[in-house]
Amino acid sequence: MENNRAQTDGADTLERAKAYLRRFFGYREFRPAQEPVIRSLLAGRDTVAIMPTGAGKSVCFQIPALLSEGVAIVFSPLISLMKDQVDALVGQGVPAAFVNSTIAPREAARTLADAEAGLVRLLYVAPERIDDPWFAEAVSRMRVALVAVDEAHCLSQWGHDFRPSYRAIAPFIASLPRRPVVGAFTATATREVKDDIVRLLCLRAPAVHISGFDRPNLFFDVRRGEDKNDFLLRYVAAHSEESGIIYAATRKQTDAVYALLKKKGVAVGRYHAGMSDEERRRMQEEFLYDRLPVMVATNAFGMGIDKSNVRYVIHYNMPKNMEAYYQEAGRAGRDGEPGRCVLLYAPSDVQTQRFLIEHSVEDETRRAYENERLQRMVDYCHTPGCLRRFILEYFGDEAPERCENCGICTAETETVDLTVDAQKVFSCVYRMRQHFGMALVVQVLTGSGNQRVRQFGFDKLSTFGLFKGRSQKSVNLLIQRLVATGYLVVESEHSTLRLLPSAFPVLKSEAKVLLRLPKEREPVPTSAKHVRSETSGPLFEALRAERRRFAEAENVPAFIIFSDATLHDMCRLRPKTLRGMAEVKGVGEQKLRRYGEAFLAVIREIDG
Ligand code: ADP
Repeated sequence: MENNRAQTDGADTLERAKAYLRRFFGYREFRPAQEPVIRSLLAGRDTVAIMPTGAGKSVCFQIPALLSEGVAIVFSPLISLMKDQVDALVGQGVPAAFVNSTIAPREAARTLADAEAGLVRLLYVAPERIDDPWFAEAVSRMRVALVAVDEAHCLSQWGHDFRPSYRAIAPFIASLPRRPVVGAFTATATREVKDDIVRLLCLRAPAVHISGFDRPNLFFDVRRGEDKNDFLLRYVAAHSEESGIIYAATRKQTDAVYALLKKKGVAVGRYHAGMSDEERRRMQEEFLYDRLPVMVATNAFGMGIDKSNVRYVIHYNMPKNMEAYYQEAGRAGRDGEPGRCVLLYAPSDVQTQRFLIEHSVEDETRRAYENERLQRMVDYCHTPGCLRRFILEYFGDEAPERCENCGICTAETETVDLTVDAQKVFSCVYRMRQHFGMALVVQVLTGSGNQRVRQFGFDKLSTFGLFKGRSQKSVNLLIQRLVATGYLVVESEHSTLRLLPSAFPVLKSEAKVLLRLPKEREPVPTSAKHVRSETSGPLFEALRAERRRFAEAENVPAFIIFSDATLHDMCRLRPKTLRGMAEVKGVGEQKLRRYGEAFLAVIREIDG
């Protein structure tokens, strides 16, 4: 009986949650990954939610916040973005506000008083504020129903964005007169980080929800051997209407790419740790507001860039590991619309990353660990198999053989028999006693007469010069492919090449090496193939222009008015009445009231 009632109550609350989703955010259904997280928080249970970027984490604490009796405090590390986040919520009719160091004490006091009076339901706070006595004092008078910790990996030293101030959150929660429900949110899934979150936030028997890592709307691609600058210039020119991020490995390279694009007249921004705070803030803002559609940056640019309409992320250099890559690439397509993630690989990128590891990681075990992760990144750049599958398997998810939405699956391929070439390589590695790195093996195979080759007597080996006449680059690529497909391994400590068990049957002619390799590809992909044609074209352009007018008038980024996904849905449904407009994804009550008529007028004008 009790149980039944609890279930009915649960179902009722979920219905109320859905009604709020519709009213405030304009979405009909929760995404599959959101529902269990929301249920768990609504049932009063501490919850850790690990969801990939763009999965929709915010709604998971915003709706429980609106449904609970009291204030929800949201800890967020992103002072520079708090205002935008809160503006977006207020624009949707959600009573939200923020307190951080950019707010004058008088205004902060007013906000806190509003929260005490129940006028503010979601209070965004930077964790540094916990140390302010006036903040603690004001909060002690509030009824705090929920504490949401956004970007919770900042708690962990294993994560990439450790913030000591996050460690003050647990004592803060313990100091509250009544313990609220605690929710922690992140996209980082490593076990160390997850364990740290649970431990350092002192969560009580938390429910941990880890959702799948797939981002079906993202198209992954790796380009090897391209002229990077040429590719970039052509890509940016072919996508001049879109917003994109270009990541480079170092500040110097960032500056060089920035100068290159600027010289060609591209409206481009840049961001790295060598610039002043003020300049970085300005660049970030220009990018958010679409005034500079392209941003060239180091990995310093990123966390919390929840600009939803980034259509492409190009890596000018290979990053240090798959975690970093997936996080950076994942900044494309947060609105669920197609996004492209292209990695431009060159062998020198590996050297750069090795150098960075050698010079920044002191602990030997940790260094070996970083080198191993780097090798997996190199493997990604050479895998002849589906790129999405590689990513998902790396993160421990299941994946079908082919995704049909990556550079490998969509390329025209041919099956190539590499058995004889592979035998030559394996035999050479074997004869060099599995003691040397890729560069020397390549030199021996191509018959280079350089001093090191002679010094070790490798010019006397029967495998010397087996690939005479071939370029070192092509032999290098062949070996990388054999590494990526698990025949060879690059040992982390000295980068020596060794044979793996699957190489031996090949050497004995008991097995073949058959790889499916892409044929020549179009130099620069156009987005046309990936954007549904019915949702682009003149109507989309006209709606975009209308959105820009509102964004400028209200001085907010365009995607805060409506996301690209919402405009595409308008193109698909082509509503003619306010009621029809309310059916569009992302049009909640408040936005319908504010913008409904104006956007209807645009549709009517185009459709006649
Ligand atoms: P995350 O923080 O996980 O990266 P966000 O909270 O920024 O993701 O959400 C990503 C996008 O998904 C936003 O544009 C958001 O409005 C949209 N979104 C969230 N929930 C839903 C839903 N249930 N249906 C459709 N879109 C949603």
